[in-house]
Amino acid sequence: MFLKASTEEQAKAKGYCEDYKVFLNQAKTEREAVEYAVGFAKKNGFVPFEKGKKYAAGDRVYSVNRGKALALAVIGDESLEKGCNIVAAHIDSPRIDLKQNPLYEDSELALFKTHYYGGIKKYQWTVIPLALHGVVVTKKGTIKVTIGEHPGDPVFVISDLLPHLAKEQMAKKGNEIIAGENLNIIIGSERNGTDEKDKEAVKDNILLILNQKYGIEEEDFISSELSAVPAMEAKDIGFDCSFIGGYGQDDRVCGYTGLTAIASVSKPKKTAVLFLADKEEIGSMGNTGMKSAFYKNFIADLAPSVSLREILSNSECLSADVGAAFDPSYKDVSEKHNAPQLNHGVMISKYGGSGGKSGSSDANAEFVGKVRQIFNDNEVAWQIGDLGKVDAGGGGTVAQFIANLNVEVLDCGVPLLSMHSPYEVAAKMDIYMAHKGYKAFFEN
Ligand code: MN
Ligand code: MN
Repeated sequence: MFLKASTEEQAKAKGYCEDYKVFLNQAKTEREAVEYAVGFAKKNGFVPFEKGKKYAAGDRVYSVNRGKALALAVIGDESLEKGCNIVAAHIDSPRIDLKQNPLYEDSELALFKTHYYGGIKKYQWTVIPLALHGVVVTKKGTIKVTIGEHPGDPVFVISDLLPHLAKEQMAKKGNEIIAGENLNIIIGSERNGTDEKDKEAVKDNILLILNQKYGIEEEDFISSELSAVPAMEAKDIGFDCSFIGGYGQDDRVCGYTGLTAIASVSKPKKTAVLFLADKEEIGSMGNTGMKSAFYKNFIADLAPSVSLREILSNSECLSADVGAAFDPSYKDVSEKHNAPQLNHGVMISKYGGSGGKSGSSDANAEFVGKVRQIFNDNEVAWQIGDLGKVDAGGGGTVAQFIANLNVEVLDCGVPLLSMHSPYEVAAKMDIYMAHKGYKAFFEN
């Protein structure tokens, strides 16, 4: 199970993670992750998929869904009738979205109203530097926004009470310390003009800046997708630099390792398919989430003469998502015999769910055995990983939605510390082993 990694493997893992940090810094939203992945895919010989075109073994194609999700394939030697090998990760992460009518002024401060996205501990998102990422659809076209990532850029912040006046606040339960409607982002304080009676002079000034700098008018916010994400760089953690700290590693760590894995496959036996899905953090809904027909249509279109049900029922999938690494400061929520340890390799989880495996697809023992064998044969360090103690909580991945299509599915990803926080921690050996594991799975 725990394969003591050689010094050579450790060096490889560290080298591999240098590029991973660049990716984390460039891809803080699903749109940016798709952009990065398409660039990476093109460099590695992938071309846009063309419906109706005949593809041969070794051909590499990709298809973008609305700029937010991506499917890639390397055509295999065998007919798709025999099934394909799928790795499925998600590239959306918890964050603070702006509301559609976000801009307001209160007590001569300009602020943005927000609606958080995904399961967050709200207090973790106050008093940290935030960058603004997204798109604004204006009359004149779509404007791409990234503010707070470049030297000299301003950043934004959500305030919190000083301890001196927080007596009442600190007596509240954790999930009530910061109310959702208090996650307001501070964006300015200067007035436009000198009219003392103008009650919205600060807001007007912000609108003036937005118009001059970006050509944005207030109504344009209605058709925007703007997200506040941590304006913090991914960095090595620890004296030994064995970890990476950074935002959005759930689940872009599996997205990235899946991407490098499929790019390193040349002529697999079975067709290799990578899905990078959106909307997992809010239930995989919508036309870009894993429940969308986009994903199975992509597979169907790869081989129009073969029945999709035949392909799917012979296909196998690693649901590539992160897990909760054992944290020595919070031993109580884990059960040591089944908890994943940092730096012990890529993690496989037979089931997830909560309250008695509820909502989990629970992988079949036969498929778990097969993946275990693939990993052992290819010197992939791996470990088993339950999500915490029985009844401590729980969670799910996209595994269930793919399993519902009659595909064999097993959860397999990287354990994290501080999952869903603004600064998640992953171990370099686990990241590298995820790459190695997905590659071995594609090539089996
Ligand atoms: Mn996830
Ligand atoms: Mn998550």
